[in-house]
Amino acid sequence: MHIIVCLKQVPDTNDVRIDPETNTLIREGVASIMNPFDENALEAALAIKDAQGATVTAISMGPPQAGDMLREAIARGADNVYLVSDRAFAGSDTLATSYALAKAIRTLPAADLVLFGKQAIDGDTAQVGPGVAELLGLPIITYVRKVTVQDQQLEVERAFEDGFERMSVPLPAVLTVLKETNVPRMASLRGRMKAKKVEVPVLKAADIEAESHHVGLTGSPTQVIRIFTPPKKQGGVTLDGSHGQEAAQQAVALLRERKVI
Ligand SMILES: Cc1cc2nc3c(=O)[nH]c(=O)nc-3n(C[C@H](O)[C@H](O)[C@H](O)COP(=O)(O)OP(=O)(O)OC[C@H]3O[C@@H](n4cnc5c(N)ncnc54)[C@H](O)[C@@H]3O)c2cc1C
Repeated sequence: MHIIVCLKQVPDTNDVRIDPETNTLIREGVASIMNPFDENALEAALAIKDAQGATVTAISMGPPQAGDMLREAIARGADNVYLVSDRAFAGSDTLATSYALAKAIRTLPAADLVLFGKQAIDGDTAQVGPGVAELLGLPIITYVRKVTVQDQQLEVERAFEDGFERMSVPLPAVLTVLKETNVPRMASLRGRMKAKKVEVPVLKAADIEAESHHVGLTGSPTQVIRIFTPPKKQGGVTLDGSHGQEAAQQAVALLRERKVI
């Protein structure tokens, strides 16, 4: 069984700063980490490998420094890693990113299962998993909180706000996984030693036969007009009416005063 896991390197911060001129993330001085949901996707793949045997391949599209994250994946137990990286990919939106990842996946030995995190904590669109599934023509289940594989059949639980559904899906398939799926393992010392020696293979646009009009800014139908950090919420007003009616009257008076009603 071959499992491909898509890992994104993201800034290690919730306090994302935006360059007002270019509308892009300011990455200088910010450490990078494996997207937290992708740690769960990787762990799901490694757990299947432990339970029944599988080859786990981790891929990432990003700049050369994403190679460090892929080495971390090796240290945790991934068998192969590939960095999808080319100047032609710069400025790719979610569609162009999905296209490049789908092309890379098609270049690799056929996957029985392709795993994604629920969403990236910087872009936050949750579009790339479904985008890749569509381009590969594979079924996808999102918001997965439990996954097992038996006889080429996936058993998954898909979470909802107020419950979950249990589904059986034939392979090959694509999943996006939630945090509660598992607890990601730490890398072993042996894994770290192995990862140190790994030369991360780079797949360029030509290697995955990506057509130039489908990647980068040219291949990106969405445009970022403006990105900004919303202002922090100011302290609210506490209404100290001694009973409900009094507090409601105070609330209405306040809303009228602020011309909300
Ligand atoms: C017009 C436009 C221009 C952009 N220009 C740039 C740019 O120049 N440089 C830049 O870095 N970003 C750029 N972006 C952002 C980039 O498109 C997104 O970061 C990327 O498409 C992933 O989307 P997301 O972060 O919302 O991921 P989500 O869809 O939320 O991610 C879901 C899952 O998909 C997988 N995944 C997502 N991205 C990757 C990846 N790169 N490699 C492997 N797996 C992945 C992970 O498993 C992740 O958990 C641009 C976006 C737009 C709209």
